Amino acid sequence: MTSPTTYDMVIVGGGPAGLTAALYASRARYKTLLVERIGLGGQLLTYEKVDNYPGFPEGITTFELTELFKAQGLRFGMEHRSVEVTGLDLSGTIKVLHTPEGPMEAKAVIIATGCTPRKLQVKGEAEFTGRGVSYCAICDGPFYRNEEVAVIGGGDTAVEEAVYLTKFASHVHIIHRRNTLRAVKILQEEALANPKITVHWNRIVTEIQGGPQGVTGLVLQDTVTNASSELNVSGVFVFVGLVPNTQWVPEDVHRDALGFLITDNQMATSVPGVYAAGDVRSKSLRQIVTAVGDGATAAFCAGRYVESLAHHG
Ligand code: NAP
Repeated sequence: MTSPTTYDMVIVGGGPAGLTAALYASRARYKTLLVERIGLGGQLLTYEKVDNYPGFPEGITTFELTELFKAQGLRFGMEHRSVEVTGLDLSGTIKVLHTPEGPMEAKAVIIATGCTPRKLQVKGEAEFTGRGVSYCAICDGPFYRNEEVAVIGGGDTAVEEAVYLTKFASHVHIIHRRNTLRAVKILQEEALANPKITVHWNRIVTEIQGGPQGVTGLVLQDTVTNASSELNVSGVFVFVGLVPNTQWVPEDVHRDALGFLITDNQMATSVPGVYAAGDVRSKSLRQIVTAVGDGATAAFCAGRYVESLAHHG
C-alpha cells in the first residue's frame, strides 16, 4: 500500500478564507492542498451579491467573485479536492486528516470551515425544513413568488435577505426579538424604507405551523406583553446567527464560549501547526474582507511553521 503524500499545508474549507490561504501558500511554493466538501465558494454562495468587498464599486455577484478567487488560486497551482474531512489526529508532528477516501497528511493544517446557520429550535422547525422553512434566501426565495414570507432575526443576514426576498414575495415580515435591529444602518435604512417589508418588533416565534402542503403560519409571542398572536405566511427564513463547523476538530484546539476557534494574531490555535481563518475563528467582524485577511495571515504563518520544522530536523 502506498503511503499518503505529506503536504506542507492542508487547508480545510473552500470559502474566501480557505481560497485566499490556498492562493498565498501556492504562490509561496508550499505543497498545498485545499479540501472542501460541497464546492468552492462556501457561505459566500448563499448570498446573491456583495457590496462591501473593496475593488468592486458597483458590487459583484458572489458567483463571479468565487470564480475570480478560484482562477487566481489556480494560476499559482492551487491543488483542490472535494471530500469531507471527518477527523483530525494531532498526536504526531505530522497531522493526519481523516476522510471517507482515506487519510491525508500535513505538516500544518489551516481550518477555514466557516459556519452553518443556527437553528431556531422551536416546534415545527425540523418538521417543515425544506417544506417552508429555509436558511438560504437565494436557494429558496424564488419558490415564494407573490406569497407572504417571514424572516426571523435582526442581524445583517436577516435584514439583507429580507430585502432580497421582496423581489419574489408579495410581503416580507421581519420578526425580531428586540426593538432595535442589529444590522448595519445602511441595511436597516433600505429595509425600513421598503413598502413590502414590515418589522414585527419584540416578537419571538414559539411555533411554526403547517400541514401536508407545508408551512401555513407562525405563532408569535410579544416579549413585552406576553400576548400571543398568529401570522399567516407560507415561507419562513431563519437567520438567527451562525454555528462554527468544528465538529471534526479535536478539543485540544481551544474554543471560545460560543464554540469559535481561538487564535492569536498569527491565526495560530492552541495546537502548534494548526491555524484557523475566516468565520470559524473567534473574532469581532465576520466579512469576506476579514476572511481573506485571515487566510493570508494563516498561510504566511503556517509557512513559517513548516520551515521551522525543517530547521529542527
Ligand atoms: P448575527 O449578527 O449573530 O445576528 C443574529 C440575529 O438573530 C440577531 O438579531 C439576534 O437577535 C437574532 N437571534 C439570535 N438568536 C435568536 C433566537 N433564538 N430567536 C430570535 N432571534 C434570535 O448573525 P447574522 O446576521 O447571520 O450575521 C453573521 C455574521 O455575518 C455577522 O458578523 C454579520 O455582520 C456578517 N454578515 C455580513 C453581511 C454584510 O456585510 N453584507 C451580510 C450577512 C452577514 P439580537 O439582535 O437580539 O441578538
